[in-house]
Amino acid sequence: MRLRVLGSNGTYPTPGHPCSGYLVEADGTRVMLDAGPGTLAALQEALPDGRLDALVVTHAHPDHCSDVFHLFNFLRFGSETREGLPSFAPEGVADALAAFLGAGEGHAFHRAFVWQGVSAGDRGRVGGIDLAFAATQHQLPTLAVSLTAGGRRLVYSADTGPGGGLPALAAGADLLLCEATLQGDGEGWPYHLSAAAAGALARQAGVRRLLLTHLAPMLDPARSVAEAAEAFGGPVEWAVPGMEVEV
Ligand SMILES: [Zn+2]
Repeated sequence: MRLRVLGSNGTYPTPGHPCSGYLVEADGTRVMLDAGPGTLAALQEALPDGRLDALVVTHAHPDHCSDVFHLFNFLRFGSETREGLPSFAPEGVADALAAFLGAGEGHAFHRAFVWQGVSAGDRGRVGGIDLAFAATQHQLPTLAVSLTAGGRRLVYSADTGPGGGLPALAAGADLLLCEATLQGDGEGWPYHLSAAAAGALARQAGVRRLLLTHLAPMLDPARSVAEAAEAFGGPVEWAVPGMEVEV
């Protein structure tokens, strides 16, 4: 199973750095995790045919889902038009996206994607990849996701504070792709993790490797990596666009 980082900025994109979006491939199955601004262009760079087997949208904040609108146009008008992309998101997200588009009954949006509302504890399967979901500590319904294929397991935190279901979902993962929006003690903002909190979570969950993502764009990533590494005591890297990691 291979992870490719399409974008990793928290909150807003900067030049060359789209927001959250990842491509996971295993045995020819391709799943896109989140579709933040800039990630559709990065996806086409990674996959010229843009052929996906599924999409997972972790929550309705625009830095994780605004490119769904452009993915819709890509599926409809792009070089290889297609319908029926299996898509997983918390209940209500598909309706919110459709409402923004003014997509009433019969609109092409409802044919481009086949949405499946998921919640904590739900499971799914796409080709050779098993999915499992857990609810995170965030301002609105948000799901962390576990992907298992070929005996390897990747867990993506989505956005989360230190509570919620992520610590249990991450237990024993080969790779934890974890948000680290903040630095220092991360005090005063319960819906995101500091780099040190991400490192502590990785240690407690017994994961093999930690990949930091969703850093606020104004922060120095080297400091985030150092803070996470001190708390984790294992290998830590910063997810940058174009990076590929064998899970
Ligand atoms: Zn976010």
